Amino acid sequence: MKCPYCGHKMDKVVDSREVEDGVVIRRRRECLGCGKRFTTYEYIENVPLFVVKRDGRREMFDRNKILNGVMKACEKRTVSVEQMEELVDKIEQEIRREYDNEISSQEIGEKVMKYLSKLDDVAYVRFASVYRQFKDVKEFMEELQQLIVSQTQKKRRGRR
Ligand SMILES: [Zn+2]
Repeated sequence: MKCPYCGHKMDKVVDSREVEDGVVIRRRRECLGCGKRFTTYEYIENVPLFVVKRDGRREMFDRNKILNGVMKACEKRTVSVEQMEELVDKIEQEIRREYDNEISSQEIGEKVMKYLSKLDDVAYVRFASVYRQFKDVKEFMEELQQLIVSQTQKKRRGRR
């Protein structure tokens, strides 16, 4: 880094920290020429992530779309906006960790269901019924049945 005071090209980093959740790295530098300190900011480029839809079309990943879906599912439930934001954060982090530049909308849906099922049963069922587009009532009942079984197991485990 060129010193803004004297133009010297050598410096040492005296402190560096991540801000805005690791999107920006802030570094305090000390010029080896004049000894003055200055700050630089490095932005980590957000790698574009595409969502492949059912019909094969691609669109840019948009966390607000996930949030909207979650909000609809949680309507009139006791889930707070904070909890929903947190859930979407977790999903986004997981996606960025596991996928390079493409994810299918189905895989996103599965992740939303995974986290929603831990948060609120009704919201989960609502989301699943819209998302999975159950072909018939039987299919939907099977899904419900599975949910009930896993909930009962959870409760039993909790009692021990
Ligand atoms: Zn300098």
